[in-house]
Amino acid sequence: MTTSATPTAVHVRAPGKINVFLKVGSLLEDGYHDVAIAYQAVSLYEDVRAYSADDFSVEVTGTVELSRVPTDGSNIAIKAAQLLARSTGYRGGVRLHIDKHVPVTGGMGGGSADAAATLLACDTLWGTQVPRERLLELAAELGADVPFALTGGTAIGTGRGDQLSPALAKGNFQWVLAVADFGLSTPAVYRELDLHRDRHAQDIYPATTAPTVDANVLQALRAGDPHMLADTLYNDLQAPALHLEPSLSAVIELGEQNGALAGVISGSGPTVAFLAADLDSALELQIALSAAKLTVVRATGPVHGARIIGA
Ligand code: ATP
Repeated sequence: MTTSATPTAVHVRAPGKINVFLKVGSLLEDGYHDVAIAYQAVSLYEDVRAYSADDFSVEVTGTVELSRVPTDGSNIAIKAAQLLARSTGYRGGVRLHIDKHVPVTGGMGGGSADAAATLLACDTLWGTQVPRERLLELAAELGADVPFALTGGTAIGTGRGDQLSPALAKGNFQWVLAVADFGLSTPAVYRELDLHRDRHAQDIYPATTAPTVDANVLQALRAGDPHMLADTLYNDLQAPALHLEPSLSAVIELGEQNGALAGVISGSGPTVAFLAADLDSALELQIALSAAKLTVVRATGPVHGARIIGA
């Protein structure tokens, strides 16, 4: 029989994401950009287990390349746990175990999913009962994509990407993801975009005009029509990512030659997300890309945000 109301271990699962649409506004004075994003959470998950402990530690396992994942205090999961402890006055620590399935530095928000899962896991483990709205605020402090990993589904993100409003999406979309064996740094890709815009005096979004998600993206999501959505996939970070890693152009072309409705760099890349018409075409595309010696995973979306699997 347990004597305490709080559990001694909690398991939370949080999804990776694809940016179906990403428009970048002007560089703001605080060094960030205004963005307009259509996010979709996809069925590649991070499993975070939190165990009672006196101090903070993290262990990482998984099916993806793990060499770029820190296991010290710079791991975003540790930062999430410490932020929650600070903001609630909780005095203990936590031992975290992360089982990663989202490609690292792939533009699919794996670290953000870890942070979101950790917030939820520690809140449950510690019995701190932080209201949902406050949890979302803490998530935004940790990173622009962290609130979306909590909410999941399909959503529009504005501001730095952290001001979320849900988007209606019907049915399921079939994604095939070509995962690179290298990472791309998000700040480096933004820097490349700024350099390009400076060189071409191309400040297309005056500071007073925030970027928005095109209406036809919302319509395609609402209709649940992959053909319509394929026509609207868009990413302002694609050109700078391809400039930094020209080999990715051939990957996009290969996918589109092998039945993908369209391919787009996800977030700051280097993962290329291909949208397929249905499960059969997704399977065929997966086989074709694998035959070309690419690392490929399949995923469907939308899926749930971070949720408790066991406590
Ligand atoms: P996003 O799509 O949100 O821009 P990403 O998917 O491109 O992110 P991540 O895999 O989330 O990138 O991590 C980016 C960097 O953060 C890595 O270089 C890594 O060193 C650092 N990092 C810190 N904590 C983690 C974590 N738990 N998992 C992965 N990377 C982490």
